[in-house]
This record gives sequence, structure tokens and C-alpha cells, in this order.
Amino acid sequence: MKPIREIIFSIISATRCLVIWIVAVLLIPNILLDCTESIPTLWKIANIAIPAGMYMIILIANKRTGWMAMTLLPVMVLSAFQIVLLYLYGESVIAVDMYLNVATTNMSEASELLENLTPAIILVIAIYLPTIAWSIYAIIRKLKMPMVARREFAIWGSSLTLFGIGLGAVALANGEKGNFHYNIFPINAIYNLCEAVNRAKQIAGYPYTSVRFRYEARSLRNSSDREIYVYVIGETSRAQNWQLYGYHRPTNPKLSQEKNLVFFDRALSESNTTHKSVPMLMSCISAETFNHINNIKSILSAMKEAGFHTRFFSNQAPNRSYTEYFGNEADDTRYTEKNTGHQPYDDALIKMISQAVDDTVHKKQFIVLHTYGSHFKYRDRYPEQFSYFKPDNTSEVSATAREELINSYDNSIRFTDHVIASIISELKIANCPSALLYSSDHGEDIYDDARKRFLHASPTPTYYQLHVAMLAWLSDDFCKAHPEMIHNLRDNSHRFVSPQKSMFNTAMDICGIETPQSDRSKSLASAAYTSSPAVYLTDLNNAVPVKESGIKSADNQHLASLFDF
Ligand SMILES: [Zn+2]
Repeated sequence: MKPIREIIFSIISATRCLVIWIVAVLLIPNILLDCTESIPTLWKIANIAIPAGMYMIILIANKRTGWMAMTLLPVMVLSAFQIVLLYLYGESVIAVDMYLNVATTNMSEASELLENLTPAIILVIAIYLPTIAWSIYAIIRKLKMPMVARREFAIWGSSLTLFGIGLGAVALANGEKGNFHYNIFPINAIYNLCEAVNRAKQIAGYPYTSVRFRYEARSLRNSSDREIYVYVIGETSRAQNWQLYGYHRPTNPKLSQEKNLVFFDRALSESNTTHKSVPMLMSCISAETFNHINNIKSILSAMKEAGFHTRFFSNQAPNRSYTEYFGNEADDTRYTEKNTGHQPYDDALIKMISQAVDDTVHKKQFIVLHTYGSHFKYRDRYPEQFSYFKPDNTSEVSATAREELINSYDNSIRFTDHVIASIISELKIANCPSALLYSSDHGEDIYDDARKRFLHASPTPTYYQLHVAMLAWLSDDFCKAHPEMIHNLRDNSHRFVSPQKSMFNTAMDICGIETPQSDRSKSLASAAYTSSPAVYLTDLNNAVPVKESGIKSADNQHLASLFDF
């Protein structure tokens, strides 16, 4: 009997074994996607046959198998990324937004997330690192594949590819859902990557494509009167965990005491990603008009045209996105400074507001705040003294740690409550007509049901990722000057709202601005307010009814409580 060392040596020296091994490990994402995606069976078989055949043909294209294996390195990287995303979201091919999220995330945000993906990362390293090492070994040893073996693989490879293409053609002819660039991995992942590169180019060109845009905005009020308006973009704050929504825990001890505050309990975001939701919240754009985003400017420009001194204060780092460009349109753009490499807490924004209130030179001010809210890791979003619900410290990310995760999430909401209430206190000091509008960009999954989903920005949304916290507050002076507005806000507080349509239009109404871009029927401060149908902006930037967004039956009952589902 051969010693084990010799057996291993003969296996790793056999180029045939290397080819079979590479084809097998590269098919792991295909097998997983066949299990997670609801696609017709013909496409599922094609999703195995076509890539298996193509990999074989590539690997035997030259007799030096090691070199040919290395040409598939980009596919190994994509496969590893795909496996990690399947671990995270439990479904879907790498979406366009996934690539853009990676491009727009900052280092601390990425490392917070990566720490919690450790099992998936260890798994992909364990699969692909030995594969790469084996290929390098084949290169160093100059291993060559015999002609007979190459011929055999060529026959197998071309037969499998043709068989898969045939199945796809039959599926297309039968009108079955899908296409080669939707259902075959890695073709779909590469297609989405190209689309993401395209969009990144458009974003980079935004300052040039939008330069001529004007809101033609004008103020309907006396220009000498002092007014301060604060427009707050929240982060990952879902309505269900707000006491103002009826949550059983005291997460809003301060805001629940405010008398001129209105909470909109049926607000459904049109996107579950920050990089699409925030630009919509900050402009006249919504899901149906998203493709015009390169040709418009933000609400800051509208206010500037109408004579306001504009400010953009952000507790999220600039990240080469529309949000950064929009923020640059303000007269005064500032980002919070990191303390010893850590993102500051949102209360850093209170001091900036306080300084703005002290500025009596600029009579009319419009301030946009971009908060960090309740973004994962929740425990890093609030200081020690706001650790109210305990235990709230866990490094584990799993359904078994849900209690700690919910405690820390609720503490972050309680801290948001403190930040908004403190900003309102600053506005009260200003002693002038003032108002605050707030909406979160999207919600979050926190292992809420049997699906055990976590985080947001998944390729298909859930109810938990879309139902967001949204509110308005008006000062006493403002209510005295415009009593109908607080009345209208209260009247509209239980109606279905799209924050992407109503934040902009409500702000225009409250600030007394007229522009051809505004629509009073979408202003919550107007008696003319009418709810729009619930829509969702897909990965490919199409506006579709929420019920066609890929949501599952587990979401239906919750959504039906918000709008006519
Ligand atoms: Zn976000």
C-alpha cells in the first residue's frame, strides 16, 4: 500500500484532478443559488451546465493547467463574494446595489460588518485559498495536461455548454421567467458589475450633468423675518421600535413630551439602500423619476435660490455619492470629526445646530443633517450613559443574540430621541418660527421572524427594511403664524406616506417656497395631501408596486396594515 504522502502527491500532481476540483468549487455558488432562487427548473439546470462546461473549456485551453486556473481567479473572487452575500442575506445574486454599497461604504463601517461575517469569510478562504495554492504549485512544477485528457474535457465542456444553452433557449421559447444574464452565475454577477461601473461613472459626472439645473424657487414670505428649518435624514430607524409608533418600550422619553410634534405612522421608504434613499429624500426626485437624478440638484439649492442660508452637517463620512455632491451645494458644508479613528455619536450635530442658532446674521436658515442613527453596529451608535436596555453588548451576530441586538438597537433609537429633542430645544432658544422634519432612509431586519434576516440593503426588501420613522415638529411661533399647518400635519399623520415624495414637498410648504418642482398634494402640511401608491425602486432602478418588489408572504400582513395592499 502506498503511503498517504505519495497518494496526496500523485493527486496534486494530476492536472485532471486540478480541473475537476476547480470546476467543483466554482460551482458552489451556482448550487446555492439554485436552492435559494425561485427560478424555473430549466434555468436551474442551465445554471449548472453552462458554467461547468465553460470552466472546463477555459481550463484546457492551454496545456499548462496552472496558468489557465489562474485566469479564473476573478471568477473565484466573485464566487467568494457571492457566498458571503448568500450567508448574509440568504438569497439573490450579487446585485448592482451591492457593488455600489461596497464602493460607498467607509472603512470603519466595512470593518464593523466584516467582523460579523467571520464564519462566511473563513469558509470562502478555506475553499478558495487551497485552490489558488494548488494552481500556483502547478505553475511552479510546470505541470502539463496530456492531450488525451484535454480532448476528453473539451468534449465534456462543449457538450455541457451546448446542453445548457439549449435548455435556456427552450425556457425562453416557453416564455419562462428569466434570461442568461439574470439566471446564469457568474454571467449575472458580471452583468450587474458592468451596470454598477456604469452608474458609478454617472455619479462621478454628476457635477457636470446637473450644473444648469435651477429650481426657480422663490419665497412667499417676508425676507426680513428670522426663520430656521432643520431637515434631518435618519439612518436605519424603523418605525416599529419607536415608542411614538406604539412600541411597548420607552424609546422616546423626550419626544413623547413635545406638544407640537406629529409622528407619521404609515411611512414606507421607496428604497432599502442609503445611497438611493438619501438622494431621493434630499431632492424632488422619487422612485418614478430616479433616472433624472443626474440632471437635478438638491433641496439645498432650492432653498438657496429662495434666499436661505443653507447648511449641510453630516455625521456620515463623504463617500463619493450623490449625497456628498448634494451636501456640497450648501453655503456651509461640514462633517463631524472622528475621535481617535471612531465615528462620533450623533450628538456632535447638536453643537453645530447650537452654533447655527447663535448666528443672527443669517435671518433665514435651512439646515440638512445627515445622522448615523441606528446603523450597525448598534452598540457603537450611543455613549455608555445611553446604555438603558441591558444586556446590550454582544460580538455575536445570530438569532440567538437577538435580545442583545434589540437592546442595543433600542438604545440607539433612545439616543436618536435625545438628539432630536436636543435640536428642538436649540430651536426653541432661537425664539422664531422654526420647524424640524425627520425621516429615516430605510429600516432594518433584526432576526424578526423565521426567515432570520438581518441588516438592510438586501436585493429584495422586507417590511422591516421599509417601514420607517418619520416626524415633524413646529415651534410655537410657527404654529401661531401658520395654525393651519399643525392642523393639517395632525390630520395627515395616519395616512400612508412615501417619505421620498413628502419630505421635499412638506419642507417647501412649511418654508413657504414656491417652485415648479414642488407638488402640494404630496405635502403633509397641506389640506390637499393625497397618498400615492406604494412603490419600490428596484436594483435596476425601476419603480415597481411594493407587492412586486420581491417581498415574501411573511411581509404581507404587516404591509396590509399600512396601505391598501
Ligand atoms: Zn441607510
